[in-house]
Amino acid sequence: MLFVAWLAAPALAPLSWDEARAEASTLVALMTADEKASLMLGTGWHLGVLTKYYYVGNIPGVERLGIPRMNMMDAAGGFRTYWSELVGTVTCWPSLLSLASTWDPDVVLSFATALGKEFAGKGANTILGPSINVHRVARNGRNFEYLSGEDPYLGSQLVGPYVQGVTASGVMSVTKHWVLNHQETNRNSESSNVDDATLWQLYYPPYEAAVAAGTSGFMCSYNKVNGTYSCSTQATLTKDLKGTMGFRGFVQSDWGATHDVTLQDGLDQEMPMAPNAMLDPAAPYYFSPAKLAQQPSAAVDEAAARLVTTMARLRLLNRSYCAPPCEAQLRANVTSGAHAALARAAATAAIVLLQNKGDVLPLDATKVRSIAVIGEAAAAGAYDPAGTSQGQGGWHQGDYYSGGGSGHVTAGYVISPLAGIAARAATAGIRVVSCTNCTTAASVAMAKGVDVAIVVGGTTSGESVDRPNLTLDHAADALISAVAAANGQTVALVAAPGAFLTPWRGAVAASAALFLGGQESGAAWATVLFGDAPPAGRLPLTLAGDDAAHTITLPGDDAAHTIDPSEDAAIAYSEGLATGYRAPGATAAAAFPFGHGLTYTTFAFGAPTVDASACSPAAAAKKAAAASSGTTAAANAATAAATTATAAAAAAAGGCSLCVSLPVRNTGGVAAAAVPQLYLDVPAAGWPAPLLRGFKKTAPIAPGASVAVPFCLATRDLSYYAHGGWVKAAMATAHFGASAGDLRQSLVLPLGAVAPVPLVESA
Ligand code: BGC
Repeated sequence: MLFVAWLAAPALAPLSWDEARAEASTLVALMTADEKASLMLGTGWHLGVLTKYYYVGNIPGVERLGIPRMNMMDAAGGFRTYWSELVGTVTCWPSLLSLASTWDPDVVLSFATALGKEFAGKGANTILGPSINVHRVARNGRNFEYLSGEDPYLGSQLVGPYVQGVTASGVMSVTKHWVLNHQETNRNSESSNVDDATLWQLYYPPYEAAVAAGTSGFMCSYNKVNGTYSCSTQATLTKDLKGTMGFRGFVQSDWGATHDVTLQDGLDQEMPMAPNAMLDPAAPYYFSPAKLAQQPSAAVDEAAARLVTTMARLRLLNRSYCAPPCEAQLRANVTSGAHAALARAAATAAIVLLQNKGDVLPLDATKVRSIAVIGEAAAAGAYDPAGTSQGQGGWHQGDYYSGGGSGHVTAGYVISPLAGIAARAATAGIRVVSCTNCTTAASVAMAKGVDVAIVVGGTTSGESVDRPNLTLDHAADALISAVAAANGQTVALVAAPGAFLTPWRGAVAASAALFLGGQESGAAWATVLFGDAPPAGRLPLTLAGDDAAHTITLPGDDAAHTIDPSEDAAIAYSEGLATGYRAPGATAAAAFPFGHGLTYTTFAFGAPTVDASACSPAAAAKKAAAASSGTTAAANAATAAATTATAAAAAAAGGCSLCVSLPVRNTGGVAAAAVPQLYLDVPAAGWPAPLLRGFKKTAPIAPGASVAVPFCLATRDLSYYAHGGWVKAAMATAHFGASAGDLRQSLVLPLGAVAPVPLVESA
């Protein structure tokens, strides 16, 4: 088993925040004004260009006091290959959106643990991740970076394992982009205007989970929030994040996101470059020593203490890190066969099987003797922006393995879909022909002569530019349709950085998605196509029926309100929670709903019951010990272990207020994991749809076996936001299903009287 249990004790148990703050306060009292100021302003950039062999973020330490430097690097797809000579020294991991499509905290923990080791091996002690923004705009160019997909509950469950994983290697995580940075169009000027209920119920929860998991920092974003630049917005930084959520680490600016900012706004560290320094090297920074000297000394001390606290907490004091230039460290080879295997396993777990008519998949070597692999994306390579100079030209472009921009990792090698499929087919003696740069006519002719035609379509995106549309590149949508018309056994595979359209879905026999799967993508595809592992991914977003289905018309609106990037200077989030599957009618009109994903077996869901013991760690351990023999017992034991993890995770998040158990039976012929989901309907809440409030990826369930899947609902899960605070629902119904569009069981929950709950529950 490649994935470690996500509650595994970190190698370096962090100090408590109180202990760390006490150490920090002692040190800050010994620091000079210049030393304090040196922690608050980045170095290493000149006129918008990063100095060779600096990290993307650099903060000099205070050596005499044992305060280490901060060496920071991006992030989304792995350690950023800023210079071409770094390519091949790191793993090109699946995107964070791919990790979201695993719906599996264990996978995220394993990935993040390995990621942390690569950062530490490169001399970095800070990762500029995770990126966790809940999708709002389907065409946002950065959606591939976001671990939440379109749902805050999904993000909340995955962010903790990410933070824990990197922390285990002594790497500080900077959670980003705080907040409401949902489109790249006009990202430096637009104002995202939102109400509190929408913020707290839809956009804040993954950030709260990051606070609970002990993230070290937050990165404030480029956009404005309700009219003020994000890094200067006291209402979100000082009041909500540091106040209500109780965050005790530091806030740093996105690169150049500062505009007339002071420490009192809630920012602790200004990262290069101040906007004008792009053009004028002499431009003043807001957090220059001279400017900080004019700010209240208590505010300076507070920011310094927050920064040193995070280092103390991860036991980084007195450690020494390379002072740039750090050629040897940055060029160190930190990837490995084990990391490649993990990247492959994660990509495999991320593949979402969308449809499978007539069980064309898995490919059966006794029936399938020839396969055609078609489409340009089938043989695509990796793109290296360093060739065109980072910071200019094509820096924001991505490829079909890793999205573009600061999160891009250029893979040292890629296993393309064609290479992966051909290698696996060879082991089964299946003939593979390919047409990856041919006309439609040639592709169709080839498809007619084989048992199965696999057409690979792809599209990508990157930072700073939104996607022009949701179609596949190289006219692949039309190609898939043409091939499907010629061969009834056509399988469409899609690599995409977010939502995409599926105009061919009525014509193909099968289709599957991978949201930019990293260097091992092709091997992962082969693993699933040939049934070496059953598909296990679920959609972290809605695949709409067509473009129009991404458009919401709001009651009372004069014009159609679109979920495309807005050109407005002030963007009203007047749709509230009604994005993605929550939008009225969106699930019914979807091509494939949020949470959807098939596998090579089927599951039946029995009647759910309230069962306090199902979520108790002790009961779970007892069940595991009592499990006797046979596949069902093994499955039970695995589920019991998972129960322990679920209950412990819930306990960390405020405890189980209510525990519901759902029987899940494998009614097919293949062992596979199920991902039952719980959507909560609270009549008083005014939500536009039932909201995801629970899910569990089970261990593989043997054919014919049943497991009891526990859903642990914390008080917050049972609450809605109204009149400036959380209210526990008096009446609620839990719906259980295989996706937002496939709800099969319901249970009216026995809830107590209405009671307000604190904004942030105490652990
Ligand atoms: C991005 C951040 C990134 C930073 C440093 C900015 O353009 O928005 O996500 O961490 O650059 O590369």
